[in-house]
Amino acid sequence: MSESLRTNLYQLNSEKIDFFSCAQFSLIHVACLLVIWTGVSTVAVVTCLALYFVRMFAITAGFHRLFAHRTYRTGRVFQFLLAFVGTTSYQKGPLWWAAHHRHHHIHTDTERDLHSPLTHGFWQSHVGWFLSRDSLATDQKLIPNLIKYRELRLLDRFYPLPPIILAVSMFVLGSTLEHYAPTLGTSGLQMLVWGFFISTVLLYHGVFTVNSLAHIFGRRRFETEDDSRNNFLVALITLGEGWHNNHHYYPSSERQGFYWWEIDISHYILKVLSWLGIVWGLQSPPARVYDR
Ligand SMILES: [Zn+2]
Ligand SMILES: [Zn+2]
Repeated sequence: MSESLRTNLYQLNSEKIDFFSCAQFSLIHVACLLVIWTGVSTVAVVTCLALYFVRMFAITAGFHRLFAHRTYRTGRVFQFLLAFVGTTSYQKGPLWWAAHHRHHHIHTDTERDLHSPLTHGFWQSHVGWFLSRDSLATDQKLIPNLIKYRELRLLDRFYPLPPIILAVSMFVLGSTLEHYAPTLGTSGLQMLVWGFFISTVLLYHGVFTVNSLAHIFGRRRFETEDDSRNNFLVALITLGEGWHNNHHYYPSSERQGFYWWEIDISHYILKVLSWLGIVWGLQSPPARVYDR
């Protein structure tokens, strides 16, 4: 661990915290405590994990590999589907996400990088930057290829709507199951807690580990100018984003696990979707990357 990280490991720039963002983020965490009253059922846990998986895929394959890096191509309907499902994660909209991520690649691990654990500490890189007033605006100059899509602009503007739709759907689904399949032991409130609140909190911290842990712990295959790492555990929980040193070395590649043993679930799914003709033009690392 570097000296600068050791000194500001637990720092959080509290002066810059945006009250509204922080209130929403905290409420979603506190709402998980409702589980004490709602209890648990198999169907609720399965729904929670399924929604974690599907939304993580939309963030990694959609927000990251498609919108931020254009590492493959797809039609406008599937592009919208990825954007909508990703937005239900309540990590703001696709344009905001892609612009901030491109900013990270331009300024990685410098003072200007909003979520570098090296320059700003672990907690600032994990959640502080997301709640900061510094990250509220979207730099449209960084995403000229995305703002031309009207539907993406709309989603970005009304980003709280998809998560609200998901939360309401969970409540309706739970209430319906309680009425028609009482043996499942679920209810509207239980499904809301597991399918939306707990799943969304797991998703927040799963995605955030790429910014925090994957710039601290792991191996460095490539001597990049940043401190990005390849981290197996982060790759597992983020469906392949943990091969972060690979990614910083060659961000134009759709696959982030460069070898068969580097598990990259988003890549496997995109590969299957390419056989079905839903996505195409998947970019791979060139031979010179493997020669190194
Ligand atoms: Zn990074
Ligand atoms: Zn990236």
